[in-house]
Amino acid sequence: MERKNCWEIWDEREKENCFKFCENYKNFISINKTERKFLSSCIKLAEENGFKDIKNYEKISPGDKFYKINRGKEGIFGICGEKSPLEGCKFIVAHIDSPRIDLKTNPLYEDEGLCFLKTYYYGGIKKYQWLTIPLAFYGFVVLKDGKKVEIEIGDKEGDPVFTITDLLPHLAKDQIKKTIEEGFPGENLNILSGSIMDTEKKDEKEKVKRNVLKILKENYGIEEEDFISGEFQIVPAGKALDLGFDKSMVLAYGQDDRVCSYTSFQALLKTTSPKKSIFCILVDQEEIGSKGATSAQSSFFTYFMEEFIEKTGGKVSELKEVFENSKAISADVDSLFDPNFKEVHDPRNAARLGCGVILTKITGGRGKIGSIEPTAEYLSYIRRIFDKNNVIWQPGEIGKVEQGGGGTVATYFARYNIDTVDCGTGVLSMHAPYEVTSKADIYSTYLAYLAFYKEE
Ligand code: MN
Ligand code: MN
Repeated sequence: MERKNCWEIWDEREKENCFKFCENYKNFISINKTERKFLSSCIKLAEENGFKDIKNYEKISPGDKFYKINRGKEGIFGICGEKSPLEGCKFIVAHIDSPRIDLKTNPLYEDEGLCFLKTYYYGGIKKYQWLTIPLAFYGFVVLKDGKKVEIEIGDKEGDPVFTITDLLPHLAKDQIKKTIEEGFPGENLNILSGSIMDTEKKDEKEKVKRNVLKILKENYGIEEEDFISGEFQIVPAGKALDLGFDKSMVLAYGQDDRVCSYTSFQALLKTTSPKKSIFCILVDQEEIGSKGATSAQSSFFTYFMEEFIEKTGGKVSELKEVFENSKAISADVDSLFDPNFKEVHDPRNAARLGCGVILTKITGGRGKIGSIEPTAEYLSYIRRIFDKNNVIWQPGEIGKVEQGGGGTVATYFARYNIDTVDCGTGVLSMHAPYEVTSKADIYSTYLAYLAFYKEE
């Protein structure tokens, strides 16, 4: 089948809508680089649009808008449809965590007069990509008395940044012969964070570290031990940027999977009086295997659905029928054909940048291991509603059959007996500090999710 290119098909008005939409997208992801920040901005937008915490509803009726938040890191936003939930609901699920570098429990140390932070990387990163770039520091500490102190350094005008150093090429004779795996051990991702000494107490050791602690105490009231009850994320500093002479692409951190989170959330906000009840589910911890309480495998989703069913006047025992008739999109990014790495793709089946949202029939790797196998009937339904709504879409797959593979949260929704399919935006340099997307694909993804919510 032939792929359509959005820039070739869209008229000037549609292109303008696309650029406008992506301006807002860029701003949103520039200021929301952690799952907590992303979610709190979504709550704010939702409330401005008439959504209320589900606990405020005794009874839910068609048109009601509601949400529920799990520990500040996972959220479900929904609109009650005209039809009974027993006829099925529509779910779009995306993840709001992104690959990054976290701090170790006891991170601060001094070595040769330089202060560093020990780290643990989060998700599947190619470590060398994270060296020598400006990094920002996001997080908070819960002090022993329960008081919460937020720390954000690196993205505001005039803020300092952080970095991880790399070896100069002049001395890299041995380093360059190593494999990437051997050359960049995770234990060496230490963040350079200070070099001035505290000279108050003349004889004491670790004067630079002591000076950094002094700054932390003065500015935030935190002490070394407080790091243990904190959450810290080190992410690339800087805003989302336009890419290319034609500004057709976005270069930004965390587009996996905030591009699908943003587009699905915006599509939900824009949908009024849906026929079926619709939900945008934003989960955490996808990049580390979805094991925790705020992940896609948490019971939060089922507990939420039980509450929803009961408040619409139904019974919890009816949930199995609701799920059986429901449809879900696992909204996660997919790989794009990269002309610089042709060898890993099957050119017939790889998605292309600018050719619209990607519908992925086969995920997993090596013999479809881990794939959810959406039915032909469900794929036919998705095709039909996309075409009916002029959504430009393309088939895609992560790579050649035995090249590798990847999974999404699709499996955790398919297992409730919900028809589920992977459908999201294509990304170049996925999991790199700065990932590339096409504005056309971002807007197509939004239009695709809008069609999914709107249609029965
Ligand atoms: Mn993802
Ligand atoms: Mn990922």
